[in-house]
Amino acid sequence: MCRLYFADIYQENIIMIVVLKANADEQKQAQLIKWLENKGVRVNIAVGEYQNVLGLIGKTENMDAALIESMEIVESVKRVSESFKRANRKFHPDDTVVEVGNVKIGGGHFAIMAGPCSVESEEQIVSVAKSVKAAGAVMLRGGAFKPRTSPYDFQGLKDEGLKLLKIARQETGLPIVTEIMNLADIHLFDDIDVLQVGARNMQNFDLLKELGKTDKPILLKRGLANTLKELLMSAEYIMANGNNNVILCERGIRTYSDYTRNTLDLSAVPMLRELTHLPIVVDPSHATGIAKLVPPMSMAAAACGADGLIIEVHNDPIHALCDGAQSLRPEEFAALVPKINAVRMAAL
Ligand code: PEP
Ligand code: MN
Repeated sequence: MCRLYFADIYQENIIMIVVLKANADEQKQAQLIKWLENKGVRVNIAVGEYQNVLGLIGKTENMDAALIESMEIVESVKRVSESFKRANRKFHPDDTVVEVGNVKIGGGHFAIMAGPCSVESEEQIVSVAKSVKAAGAVMLRGGAFKPRTSPYDFQGLKDEGLKLLKIARQETGLPIVTEIMNLADIHLFDDIDVLQVGARNMQNFDLLKELGKTDKPILLKRGLANTLKELLMSAEYIMANGNNNVILCERGIRTYSDYTRNTLDLSAVPMLRELTHLPIVVDPSHATGIAKLVPPMSMAAAACGADGLIIEVHNDPIHALCDGAQSLRPEEFAALVPKINAVRMAAL
């Protein structure tokens, strides 16, 4: 019986399948197996009624497939490789649960993160933190370093904003989620609970590699025009450098939507669920850009199996320095949370 464990593929990166011709001479088979083993690969044999298949595991990168295929008893040779390995559910069937202090996300643990787009003042962030906590959020979001389309727009309070987030954490006990835009700022994030990689930085590979060297949970947002494969490859960059605490985030992609900021690709949730063991959260705020669309899309995200949501909430959306139009008021958020939970329970 052939046993090709997926774990082998994960560790060894690649396997090769050698299909032998029907009724191939046994002595020649034995010679071929010995020859392959001498090249340093493990050979598993699947014995069929007429035809045998060899599974080669190990450093098969340098094996000459054409040479093997040219052998008298060989019918065909196929390389099997998976581009993303550490993030791949095939090699890690159980859901990953990311822990942020006492909060868990993934593997049946649902978490709502909420807060303003940007940290604006101590009063603002502490007040929003208290209200989202009372409503059921388990993490506080808030940008200190803001990736703005226009250089003339508010760019965030930067390190001062991080300090204010820590005050809000102190006041409420909520772990904080905030975006890191630049590798050079990484030392400022030592005491931050979850580091967000924004959509515009999803393929900033140098940043991803450095974040992979930390043990911080990373909230990795899907790029504006990136495929799921590309999102998973970016997660792979973080994981290949040693950090498995990755949370994926669907935040809407660019299509020809004319009335919404982006198009919320909710099919990404069940698709990613199948492809990866990592937790998946949905950001209905950036996906739609419109506050009144946030409740229905939040419920839809819960219905299709998201592990959590990240929702923008502002105490005074009209005067917000960033993304006021998509921000819920605290009372709207408070009314939404039980609905999200009800949908989630119904969908389980
Ligand atoms: C944000 O979360 O405030 C943000 C800028 O998100 P995104 O990177 O998804 O646009
Ligand atoms: Mn925002």
